[in-house]
Amino acid sequence: MDKIIVVGAGQAGASCVAKLRAEGFEGAITLIGEEPVPPYQRPPLSKAYLLGEMELERLFLRPEAWYGENGIDLRMGAKVDAVDAAAKTVSVGGEMLEYDALVLATGSTPRRLPANIGGDLAGVHVVRTLADVDAMAPEVTADRRALIVGGGYIGLEAAAVARKRGMDVTLIEAAPRILGRVAAPETADYFRALHEGHGVKILEGIGLTCLNGVDNRVVGAILSNGEEHPYDMVIAGIGILTNDALAKMAGVTLDNGIATDAHGRTSDPSIWAAGDCASLPFGGVRIRLESVQNAIDQAEAVAKNILGADQDYLPKPWFWSDQYDVKLQIAGLNMGYDRVAVRDGGAARSHWYYEGDRLLAVDAMNDPRGYMIGKRLIEAGKSPSAEVVADPESDLKALLKA
Ligand code: FAD
Repeated sequence: MDKIIVVGAGQAGASCVAKLRAEGFEGAITLIGEEPVPPYQRPPLSKAYLLGEMELERLFLRPEAWYGENGIDLRMGAKVDAVDAAAKTVSVGGEMLEYDALVLATGSTPRRLPANIGGDLAGVHVVRTLADVDAMAPEVTADRRALIVGGGYIGLEAAAVARKRGMDVTLIEAAPRILGRVAAPETADYFRALHEGHGVKILEGIGLTCLNGVDNRVVGAILSNGEEHPYDMVIAGIGILTNDALAKMAGVTLDNGIATDAHGRTSDPSIWAAGDCASLPFGGVRIRLESVQNAIDQAEAVAKNILGADQDYLPKPWFWSDQYDVKLQIAGLNMGYDRVAVRDGGAARSHWYYEGDRLLAVDAMNDPRGYMIGKRLIEAGKSPSAEVVADPESDLKALLKA
């Protein structure tokens, strides 16, 4: 193994190359990223960075010099436009590069509002890249009106920032409730109340019919209930599509993203995948995880397996979200839950997801202790009774010893 190419200089790509060097790989590593900046963290884009409370430099995962110092050929602003899996080459800007192992860490692209309903008007934004947020931030100012389309975590975080900046904010969610795809009704109720308490208008079961424009700039919207309102800007948080064009070109199996085995290897033995773009086997089904922790852990597992570790990647899912003064921390995956135990400790609150008697996941709001203990219980395969957990007087720590 002499030459490793990693396509996608995001969280997963950066973690993979760092791990390759940390594990002692001495061959050539090329990290190729389409964005014109070194790898950076995305979570602050819809939180502190959009709010103007975080410096650009703090977004970067490592200083740019680190890559050169570690013998990593970091190519920025460079898009890989073709893969030839038989010849084991990729093409970037007309140059052909050979690989022994190729890692696809190409991430995902936000879904956009369709152009035929005004999705291409100026003032309509998505939140994925630094460039997206730099373009949007000057419009997030006091006394303007924002329409947020989509009540998932990205939409809710954007709504919180817009509100904190003094905007008049309406959030619409076409599904019957916010967070429908990712959280229980109890968690949705909590965040709905939080936002409404801060003055956000949340409209559930209401979609977007079309955006109105004047001089090619958004000025308002017609909602699916027939109402028409003026808006100065729109932020769409309506999900993502995996970047799998190169995988398709390479002829590897796709299944809700780039399908890998438990080692992170695709159906082509020389091609691996990690991060948002990869789907992996987990508990008898195939899942894709859109989180920083997964991007890091899966990419590190791929790095080790490329070098022969022969280890399965076992995701230990966790996620967080910041909205106003609430920090949400999620441990585990709630897929398949049939009931939720609510532990209401006043300011600290946690929602525990069960399938039968088995604890699957915990949503903890301003409750780092509930989160930490829940995470450790899930990782240890322990399931305390839902009744005990729901009693705010019960000693959570004691459950770890049980
Ligand atoms: P990315 O970080 O998207 O990196 C992929 C890179 O590949 C991109 O830079 C892309 O330009 C590049 N690329 C694609 N195709 C090519 C090509 N052909 N040639 C060259 N380069 C290419 N997760 C959490 O756990 N907690 C959070 O609070 C949280 N908040 C988030 C907030 C926002 C606004 C966003 C957008 C995401 C958030 N996430 C959060 C999710 C998390 O950031 C992602 O799961 C993570 O960044 C995935 O990393 P990745 O490396 O797979 O993809």
